[in-house]
Amino acid sequence: MRLLVTGGAGFIGSAVCRRMLGDPNISLICLDKMTYAAIPEAVAEFTAGGRAVVEKVDVADRAEVARVFRAHRPDAVMHLAAETHVDRSIDGPGAFVQTNIVGTYTMLETAREYWRGLDASARAVFRFHHISTDEVYGSLGPTGKFAEGTRYDPVSPYSASKAAADHLASAWHRTYGLPVVISNCSNNYGPYQFPEKLIPLTILNALEGLPLPVYGKGENVRDWLYVEDHAAALETVLRRGRIGEKYNVGGGAERRNIEVVRAICDLVDELAPGPRPRRELIAFVPDRPGHDLRYAIDAGKIQSELGWTPSVSFEQGLRRTVQWYLDHADWWRGIRARLYRGERLGLSPTDAA
Ligand code: NAD
Repeated sequence: MRLLVTGGAGFIGSAVCRRMLGDPNISLICLDKMTYAAIPEAVAEFTAGGRAVVEKVDVADRAEVARVFRAHRPDAVMHLAAETHVDRSIDGPGAFVQTNIVGTYTMLETAREYWRGLDASARAVFRFHHISTDEVYGSLGPTGKFAEGTRYDPVSPYSASKAAADHLASAWHRTYGLPVVISNCSNNYGPYQFPEKLIPLTILNALEGLPLPVYGKGENVRDWLYVEDHAAALETVLRRGRIGEKYNVGGGAERRNIEVVRAICDLVDELAPGPRPRRELIAFVPDRPGHDLRYAIDAGKIQSELGWTPSVSFEQGLRRTVQWYLDHADWWRGIRARLYRGERLGLSPTDAA
């Protein structure tokens, strides 16, 4: 199978590429604009075997995306490319609209044109897998879970742009018959996550003895999933998901942010002892505007229909992740020096794009 993965140079995309290349029958095209969030080191790992190529292309560039389809003739597409950081979407929503909405539209239109030109047997196996987030559902109160039928109610510019993209993907199936499948996943963590997100930022600040910012009172709840479990779920949905369906993916590991930060402090104390307990570095800071209180996923459909369940507990995954950041200091030190030092983003309630 020739598999086109957009956003394959990012955190989840690179985990997907590593995993899919475990199948010797797969060759892979990674289409990625290589923004600040791309990880050249992760790309170097999965291109080393010679079965993956990188096309440095913007998903919103119709001519270039069409060239990639013509040149590589994919059997399936996994569309992960996106702007992904909620705080950045508050400061500058324009890039989110452009990449997540216009880019998804461009991918769908180009895929549709290409798919219509395939012969009947190739057309029957082609898949367009659109990868999305549970944030499209908005915020939960203290109880309940997001199911596939939960009404969309996005709050941030990021989640609104992803919601729009999901609706486009669904419309391209319902209107044009494009064989689309959609998955919506909870918060991921693990190796190679850009250190602007809660878990890697906290690990690095703890290692460097810097304040550990916790938004509001740290009461916000997320349902955490180890990235390799997400990659396994995505492979399952691509191969066995029913066309036109959507699947929620979650780890069944709800934690309050403050619990996550304290757990990281304790792991860093254990694995890299410092002069004082890292919990003393915790600093409560003004909350994110429009901060969703709680996300929780009902993953019953993917479990019962496709047989996927997470294999890594939150405690195991967090330990692995802290150890991974300890073992890859060269990687993150470069990012902290050149790209992002850990400063607060996303406090502006107005468009600074
Ligand atoms: P990431 O920010 O780590 O990586 C995004 C990748 O997309 C980068 O390699 C970047 O260069 C590329 N990209 C950005 N704009 C592009 C453009 N215009 N054209 C081509 N490539 C572009 O993101 P991630 O955390 O790996 O998330 C991947 C996907 O999974 C996204 O669609 C996201 O919405 C979804 N998702 C993420 C999470 C999470 O917890 N991280 C959870 C659920 C769903």
